Amino acid sequence: MEGQALEKKDIRRLSKKELEQFLLNHGEKKFKVKQIEEWLWQKSVKSFDGMTNISLKTRGLLSDHFVINKIAVDKMQRSNDGTIKNAVKLHDDNIVESVLIPTDNRITACISSQVGCSLDCNFCATARLKRMRNLNADEIYDQVVAIKEQGEEYFDRPLTNIVYMGMGEPLLNYQNVLKSIEKITSPKGLGMSPKRITLSTVGIPKMIKKLADDGVKFNLAVSLHTALNESRDKIMPFNKNNPLEELIESLDYWYKKTKRKVTFEYVVWKNINDNIEHINALIKICRRIPSKVNLIEYNNIDDDRFLQASADKVDLYLEKLNASGIIASVRNSRGKDIDAACGQLANKETAL
Ligand code: SAH
Repeated sequence: MEGQALEKKDIRRLSKKELEQFLLNHGEKKFKVKQIEEWLWQKSVKSFDGMTNISLKTRGLLSDHFVINKIAVDKMQRSNDGTIKNAVKLHDDNIVESVLIPTDNRITACISSQVGCSLDCNFCATARLKRMRNLNADEIYDQVVAIKEQGEEYFDRPLTNIVYMGMGEPLLNYQNVLKSIEKITSPKGLGMSPKRITLSTVGIPKMIKKLADDGVKFNLAVSLHTALNESRDKIMPFNKNNPLEELIESLDYWYKKTKRKVTFEYVVWKNINDNIEHINALIKICRRIPSKVNLIEYNNIDDDRFLQASADKVDLYLEKLNASGIIASVRNSRGKDIDAACGQLANKETAL
């Protein structure tokens, strides 16, 4: 029996149907599934012992067959601007990072969807980590719960927003990401509104269409960074096999189906995209796809090729976009001093 412990499956990986079947197969009543799921998700219980309204016999049965692999916040760092970065340890000792971002009226959780990343965007520190594996839905969910608790403990405020903008590419872990969102939004989970959730993607055309077909209700952000295909090829290798035109076409599809605007994330770099040709190309795309633009401040990752563009170039972007009737704003970085800002998540503190 001892040796089997490692092989026990995490109970949260079972669907409701599978758990029902398990209960029936073991002479239990299937209605118990409701109580068990409530403990697992809504109450986020850490062990079967904690399921106090479930009989000892049933708890014993569950713990004989399953485990609850809770994440553990291995290290927590606080920035002088209030941002908190968690290094989160998974049951197999892999580490991912998640961030709590406090503003005047929001507590936002920025969470990871994969261990490492396979995309190789040249300007992103996470790209330096190999993609090890996808996170399970429960591991994504647990990051949100941890940040929700920190929001209550350190700020006395509830969690208001969630962004899938941590490590990894959420659309390359489609099933688990969608399951995590289903649990986060379900009244039987955290009961949050999907309007407060944003999934950020490099822009995978096929999967964006799938999101639209699946009728998702959360927001979509695309890390565009340049609206010129050749330029995008150079800084985001993913683009070589997934040209911009296909991405735009998929966003057109997304808008027609969902009627929801896309957010374009965009960093302006010196001598890369800080000229009028790039600005005009962006305006052209924004005219075609109902959208808004977030100009993200570049966070240095010690690579000479990338430097934040000067403030007047960023202002020129703002001015031209606004003059064309496009909503655009500048997003200043948070948590830079602890490497918690966009593109800086790289397990620096915990790296072996
Ligand atoms: N893979 C998804 C999720 C990562 S989100 C995606 O590509 O959208 C992280 C966001 O930070 C993306 O918009 C990414 O392009 C941006 N980013 C990456 N490195 C950055 C850096 N050094 N400075 C600012 N933003 C960066």
